[in-house]
This record gives sequence, structure tokens and C-alpha cells, in this order.
Amino acid sequence: MEASNKRKKHICLLHTGGTIGMIRTKKGYSPKAGYLSGLLSNMPALQAEEMPEYTLVELSPLLDSSDMAVAEWNKIGSKISELYDSYDGFVILHGTDTMAYTAAALSFMLENLDKPIVLTGSQIPLCEVRSDGDDNLITSLLIAASGKVNEVCLYFGGRLLRGNRATKLSADGLFAFDSPNCPHIADVGINIRYYHTEAMPKREGGGFSFVPFIEVPIGVLKIFPGINFSLFDAVVTEKLKGVVLETFGAGNIPGEGNALIPIIERAFRAGAVVTVCSQCPQGTISLGAYAASSSLVDAGAVSGFDMTTEAAVAKLYYLFSKGLTKEEIKIKMEENICGELTRE
Ligand code: ASP
Repeated sequence: MEASNKRKKHICLLHTGGTIGMIRTKKGYSPKAGYLSGLLSNMPALQAEEMPEYTLVELSPLLDSSDMAVAEWNKIGSKISELYDSYDGFVILHGTDTMAYTAAALSFMLENLDKPIVLTGSQIPLCEVRSDGDDNLITSLLIAASGKVNEVCLYFGGRLLRGNRATKLSADGLFAFDSPNCPHIADVGINIRYYHTEAMPKREGGGFSFVPFIEVPIGVLKIFPGINFSLFDAVVTEKLKGVVLETFGAGNIPGEGNALIPIIERAFRAGAVVTVCSQCPQGTISLGAYAASSSLVDAGAVSGFDMTTEAAVAKLYYLFSKGLTKEEIKIKMEENICGELTRE
């Protein structure tokens, strides 16, 4: 057999924290600086011929992902931007709790990507015998080196998902993520089966750029039966620049006295962008389909269509960070920027 002289792909393994690299402590699992590299050197699979080369880059401090916020997204984005030309792709180790938010944020802040950014982690730490981290890590490295994806995606439990469509659906299952409104980019069984039509086409011509987010005040308000809107009045109308409303079904809110509508109207007049998303993981917003939702349009709200709340939050940060006007942001919220929504 002829020796192949194909260059091995070189992947940056960016460790941000999360269960995958945690250790047991008296207070429960916690990240520990410098600990992961020892674990990785004891994983023979990582040295296999078919694996890409990788370099571990550890952020400091390592975090439980419940502590991730805009500053941490910026730190990850800025690190990728600094190292972008030195690697063929990136695997980001991240806690599962807010992984879908970070994936959505990166999908917007890293513009014109022509390389894969794969987020992964695990429900059981690598230091435990039944860890799901081994497969998640090994397969993510293979995906990042495959040359088949050029976008921000999330690999977990056999599913490769578009980053800004993913959502965590299980607190303890090993198939914890899915993208209910978007087909998988790949399914992993004995083989890795890529669905080429579902992946973003490779961009030619470069133009990669990093847009750091600014910390605009954004809120998520989940509607529930019996909600007392007056309690939210001051927060929604005075403080928030962007509001994601998690409504019932296709965009419905309680009509009784329409107590929400004056709040939305005042928020709108005060400069806020109000985006309507659904509490249902699957399906799309259809404002005006019921009388219970048409008043939202009249009050100045825009449709989030089938966007996840995670994507809607990240998109608001992104559009405000681009310095757009409120009117421009309203228009862009309803447009597909990087695969985050479907408009029929
Ligand atoms: N609390 C952990 C985190 O999000 C959970 C996990 O990684 O699975 O960092």
C-alpha cells in the first residue's frame, strides 16, 4: 500500500470548562485547571492514525457553564479569532447547561466562517467510568477534521446539530440535545452520516471576522397562565433594550384585559425590540393566526418564527452590537442571517 502524504488536520481543542473535564470535590463536580491534559494523554484513541493532530488550549478560569455570560462568549470568540489561521478547525469543550446559548452566540459573532467550530461536552465527566465524554470528544475531533462542515455546530450523543438551532432537552440523558426545528447535519452510528444538504455551504473568499458583543440589557419573559403583568411593567419598559417573549403555541398571550399590550407598546416606544418566540420546542410563530396574538404585532413586536430562545437572545445581542437602529434590528430579527430561522 502506498503511504499517504496527506497532511494531518490540526484542530484546536479549546477547553472552557463543563462536566467533561470536572473532578469530584466535597461540594460536587467542579472544573480544575490543568487537569484535562493528563486525562487526554491517557486516552489511546486520541493517538490513533485516523485521528487529527490536536492542541489543547485551556481558558482561565475554567467555568461551570452556568457562569457563562456575554464576557465569556467574547473571550471564546476572541480566542478563536486570534487562532483562526493556525488551525483547520476548533472543538470547544463546554458545559452542557448553556452550551446552546454559547453555540448560538458564536454562530453570530464569528462572521463568514469557512472552518468548523464544534461545541461538545458530556453529562458524565471523563474521570468517571461511564463517561459519555470519550465519544463526544473523539467524534467531535473527527468531525472538525472531516472538511464537511464550515459552521458553528454542536455534537452530542450521536447528533451533529446546527449551533443556533440546538437546545438542551434532557437534564440527565446522554442524548441531551436536539434541534427540533432543523434537520441534523449528521447522525453518528457505526458510520458518520453527513446530510450535505443540511450543512451550510462552504464560503469562498475569506472575510472571517469577529464581532464582540456589547452587554445590552436583554430579558426573557415566559408567559404562564395567571401571569400578573403589572409586576413586570417597570422592568420591561424602562430597563430592557431587547425582550424575548416566550409565548404559548404559535405566539399567543392571555387576552384578559390585554394587560401585556400596553407594556409592550411602552417598551417599544422606549426603544426596545420585542421578539415573540414559542414555549413549544417544535414549530413556528404565526402572529395573527389567532386574535390572541395579533395584538402583539399592533404593539410593535416582531416574530421570532421558529428560532429557539437561545438563538433569539444571542441574535439580539449581535444586532445591538453591530450598532444598528431599532428599525433595522426589527427587520433583521425576522430575517435568516446564519441558518437560525426558517421562513416559509
Ligand atoms: N453544570 C455543568 C455545566 O454546564 C453541566 C454539564 O456540563 O453537563 O458546566
